[in-house]
Amino acid sequence: MINPASQPVFLHHQTTPSIEDDTGSAHSLSRNRRNIGEPAKYWPQNSTIKIAMYDYDMDDEYVLAVKKAASEWLPHINLKFEFVAGEEGNVRITQNVNNNSEGSSAIGTDALDRSPAHPTMALPRDHRHPRFAYIVRHEFGHMLGAHHAHQHPDANIPWDMEKVNRMVGLSQQEVERNLLPLPRSSKYDFTTYDGDSVMHYEINPALTHGGWGQSESWTLSDEDIAWAKKAYPKTTPAIS
Ligand SMILES: [Zn+2]
Repeated sequence: MINPASQPVFLHHQTTPSIEDDTGSAHSLSRNRRNIGEPAKYWPQNSTIKIAMYDYDMDDEYVLAVKKAASEWLPHINLKFEFVAGEEGNVRITQNVNNNSEGSSAIGTDALDRSPAHPTMALPRDHRHPRFAYIVRHEFGHMLGAHHAHQHPDANIPWDMEKVNRMVGLSQQEVERNLLPLPRSSKYDFTTYDGDSVMHYEINPALTHGGWGQSESWTLSDEDIAWAKKAYPKTTPAIS
């Protein structure tokens, strides 16, 4: 799905080192991206993740909107989500303090390394915005242990680094963390993919060479679902 209000540059940057960030913009048509998980950061199989809605001023409608979009992962995994009010949880969700329309989340069990006094996921305040459910799906992908699909070493995105550095408003470290390819390491599980991953940024062709771009995909792709089923299988695989 193409964001009807495509932004010319990336909008948001992360503020803490292990929180992945979200942004994106553009049009276009590349396929054959990949999905990426980091098994060491997966939650224990068949466990229940306690998810605290951190801000006391979150109203019921907001909480419901988060639950509804997040729960789209549940048919494909063996985890359970237990949503609770307040500040105590394995995952702690806050609303962005400003009008930031993006989100961020710790990757998988990195959330357990955060101080209990701090949130592990930030979501936009406006749950009526058309992109809200997409952002929840994407951040919950990170929470489950997924990295950005566009950071697959085979993505081969021809970034125009001069324009990225000038237009995106991220530090070099943030660019490396959120945009550029991950190393080919056995710590990652790189799975193939035949559609648009919800974990792939929209890539603005103005930031690449040759007009390379990627539209934003708002729903779980077949390969997102395949990744989730592989990461948290509901039944023991016949061969393992
Ligand atoms: Zn992200």
